[in-house]
Amino acid sequence: MSNKADKLVEVKNLKQYFSTGKTTVKAIDDVTFDIYRGETFGLVGESGSGKSTTGRAIIRLYNATDGQVIFDGEDVHGKKNRKELKKFNRRMQMIFQDPYASLNPRMKVADIIAEGIDIHGLARNKEERMKMVYDLLETVGLNKEHANRFPHEFSGGQRQRIGIARALAVQPDFIIADEPISALDVSIQAQVVNLMRKLQQEKGLTYLFIAHDLSMVKYISDRIGVMYHGKIVELADSDELYNHPMHPYTKSLLSAIPLPDPDYERNRKRIVYDPSQHDYTNEEPKLREVRPGHFVLCSEAEFKNYQQLYK
Ligand code: ADP
Ligand code: MG
Repeated sequence: MSNKADKLVEVKNLKQYFSTGKTTVKAIDDVTFDIYRGETFGLVGESGSGKSTTGRAIIRLYNATDGQVIFDGEDVHGKKNRKELKKFNRRMQMIFQDPYASLNPRMKVADIIAEGIDIHGLARNKEERMKMVYDLLETVGLNKEHANRFPHEFSGGQRQRIGIARALAVQPDFIIADEPISALDVSIQAQVVNLMRKLQQEKGLTYLFIAHDLSMVKYISDRIGVMYHGKIVELADSDELYNHPMHPYTKSLLSAIPLPDPDYERNRKRIVYDPSQHDYTNEEPKLREVRPGHFVLCSEAEFKNYQQLYK
């Protein structure tokens, strides 16, 4: 288990606004959380809640509107020279939802996987480069023979394995997985998740795992942040969040998880979240710690109520 004091990623008051003509979309609106070394931090929320933008801002695909991202003690968005940026790019990698759209269809698997090896000059010669590719293919459960094929020759699950091999090629510390299993068949989802867990243990990787529902995330995450409309509304250890959800939006997400039990399914009540149930007219809600390590976005009055209910 990770040392809780050992933060690899610190997201501080991050804001990412997009202006399109007259309107401004607050895709991330003052988000703060830490990711500890070696853990899986799950980020969940419905489509459009700002999860991908958070991942992309962390990896510096955007210039943040405001706030900071600290990676291993260094400000990612601060002034950096080319060499320092390249170092960040190697240490942080991303895995995407659609493993087909994210793999160049005209490139052979070997060249897709070796792209980072080439960019960062990690192989001394062609033989070493191919040896690394073969090792990576094996690591993700594929084999040598796959190296000379093209992405369209693979199934969805295999393509996601190629995406994982490509990310691993540069020996990163931190991987952002943006809905990596959402596009896969349910039967394949567990295989990919198990592979990611195995790799995490073997290589000491830290994950930000993004998903739109809680069904898989609660098994693989150490801690979970729930996003709604650009804000984190609840953050807690996985078990704690599952056993003692406080924010009504988290409750609605939990009520949407199907169980393989027909009686339960027949009686399952979907909780629908209604944001107008909060009265924030006189007070901006804040992320407050109700139980140790368990934070909820709430007003002072709601906070007192939560403390009463969840002593
Ligand atoms: P999620 O990944 O949770 O589905 P996103 O982070 O993709 O959510 O999007 C959050 C909000 O920001 C959405 O309203 C989306 O339309 C908007 N958004 C995301 N990227 C851009 C962009 N490049 N330009 C304008 N709006 C964007
Ligand atoms: Mg997304």
